[in-house]
Amino acid sequence: MLETKDLNAWYGASHTLHGVSISVAQGEIVALVGRNGAGKTTTIRSVMGLMSKTTGSMTFNGNDLTSMPAHDRFRLGLAYVPEERRIIPGLTVRENLQLGLVASRGKIDEREAIEEIAESFPRLKERLDQEGVTMSGGEQQMLAIARATIAKPKMILLDEPSEGIMPVLVEEMGVLFRKLRDQGVTLLLVEQNVEWALRLADRAVIMDQGEVVYESSSAALLADKEIQERYCAV
Ligand code: ATP
Repeated sequence: MLETKDLNAWYGASHTLHGVSISVAQGEIVALVGRNGAGKTTTIRSVMGLMSKTTGSMTFNGNDLTSMPAHDRFRLGLAYVPEERRIIPGLTVRENLQLGLVASRGKIDEREAIEEIAESFPRLKERLDQEGVTMSGGEQQMLAIARATIAKPKMILLDEPSEGIMPVLVEEMGVLFRKLRDQGVTLLLVEQNVEWALRLADRAVIMDQGEVVYESSSAALLADKEIQERYCAV
């Protein structure tokens, strides 16, 4: 479904990604792990069209993404939940959710979509008219995920969704991700919480110093403490 081939990316003069080739099949959860600075966020940002300089190729569902602007990638069904969540101050939970529908205006019934998403996110359902930023960090993360999910993307790229979130919500998030996967949504999950991500994912990809250094089923990586220690230990 998503394929990057020999992807290189730069921040100014700094060459950050070196030939990253990753493929993600429809309906699977892939965990992208590795130390801080390994290039995971840069890989996601490249796929979303948010890096100013990249080379190599990227395709999504047969569409060539390479020189496509970010908003067109979104229209193809790619959604992104960045690490910093970006819940808009002054807006209620409902209004933040409405922002997830802006690009699909006219095609999706707003009221229906919000009702439907609230069923999947009971914590948000109770708080639809509360200002989004007054919720806990974990609830804000749920809101960011709900906002990315509301327009029914085909694939969601998530950057460290479990970071700084209390364990009960992390477990809830895991259940939600499995549910999305069972509905056919594809997930690429960048995570520092390696154990959790591997228990959730079907496959794992490890990056180190801007390169892919290891790929396997997540069960195999979960059992391989040596590789985990070598590439994922903080
Ligand atoms: P982290 O968990 O810390 O986000 P990561 O694996 O996602 O790690 P990236 O954020 O992709 O790593 O960073 C890859 C490299 O690019 C690092 O060396 C980082 O310092 C550098 N980098 C990241 N953002 C910028 C930026 N805005 N300008 C310059 N260099 C950057």
